[in-house]
Amino acid sequence: MVRIGVIGTGMIGQAHIRRLGTSVAGARVVALHDSDPERAESVATSLDGARVYPSGTDLIAAPEVDAVLVSSWGATHEPYVLAAIAERKPVFCEKPLAATQQACSRILDAEVAAGRRLVQVGFMRRYDPHYRALREVLASGSIGRPLLMHAAHRNPSMPTWFTGDMLITDSAVHDLDVARWLFADEIAAITAYTPTRAARAPEGWPDPLVLLVELAGGALVDIEVLGNARFGYDIRGEVVGEDGTAELSESAGAVVKRAGAVRGPLPATWLERFDAAFDAELRDWVDTVRAGGPPGGPSAWDGYAAAVATDAGLAALHSGARTVPELGDKPDLYRAQ
Ligand code: NAP
Repeated sequence: MVRIGVIGTGMIGQAHIRRLGTSVAGARVVALHDSDPERAESVATSLDGARVYPSGTDLIAAPEVDAVLVSSWGATHEPYVLAAIAERKPVFCEKPLAATQQACSRILDAEVAAGRRLVQVGFMRRYDPHYRALREVLASGSIGRPLLMHAAHRNPSMPTWFTGDMLITDSAVHDLDVARWLFADEIAAITAYTPTRAARAPEGWPDPLVLLVELAGGALVDIEVLGNARFGYDIRGEVVGEDGTAELSESAGAVVKRAGAVRGPLPATWLERFDAAFDAELRDWVDTVRAGGPPGGPSAWDGYAAAVATDAGLAALHSGARTVPELGDKPDLYRAQ
């Protein structure tokens, strides 16, 4: 049984805690910390014997905690991830790994110095059955060499605390990670385009936004981000290869053709669309922790590369120029992943 300490008991922290109790075998949440102690206490009442810690670092150091899940706000992740590495405890960190390229770089340095991979980042799309099926098609070679990809990330609306830049750092970051993962390649350049602003988008937002992403190997990925689509949560991905195309299937559920019309389900939110992926990523993380091996999911390098990409995306958006990210060399620790 892996005894888990959770830092950050807000929206997704609570969702992860629920999953760990219902959909994931072999794990128990034993410790909680949140900057709002009342929130942590209230979550603790639903858990058998979980203790609330006064600080995240106390929780990480506690002998009763085998592994740490960080789901506090992104700008707070770095010190928690560094403390977990220092304690040599596996840590699942929600995205972003940290707020800046420099902060992510410090995490890479710490993990490399520890000599083993301890960090998994919450890019849950890599566990989504539809994305995995798409990746299997690419790996099979049946559509030939992949040349380009069209992706779309459409949200019905955005929370009031969202900002225009977060369309890149919080939304497109998932698509940027998927592009790296599907093509097994790094991002070489990004250009941002902002067509006519949607009438429902807040003043000053780049909504919709198109990122044109050049991969090092020459493939091109266009990512549409639409923050205020209203009609539902719509995630698209189509890869064009030398010999054919492959696209994400629509979300699970029957497509009904009746009375001259085709109807099928469309998820309302990302929680609904990626429900199975969130379950699968936590199951896999807990399984690898139990086995004592390195995590099987997105690594600290993936978190770092995503931060470099979102920094480049923001620079491209604000300058209007094609922007080349400064990725640097991949440490050997991450080469065999
Ligand atoms: P949230 O509802 O605001 O929850 C964050 C919690 O962390 C809040 O209770 C907050 O308390 C607490 N907190 C803030 N600073 C802290 C600190 N220094 N130490 C401990 N706790 C602290 O946010 P959320 O939507 O759950 O998002 C949390 C993280 O998950 C973010 O990094 C976000 O990007 C990520 N996320 C990922 C996905 C995905 O698709 N993988 C989806 C949603 C969110 P206060 O409210 O008092 O500040």
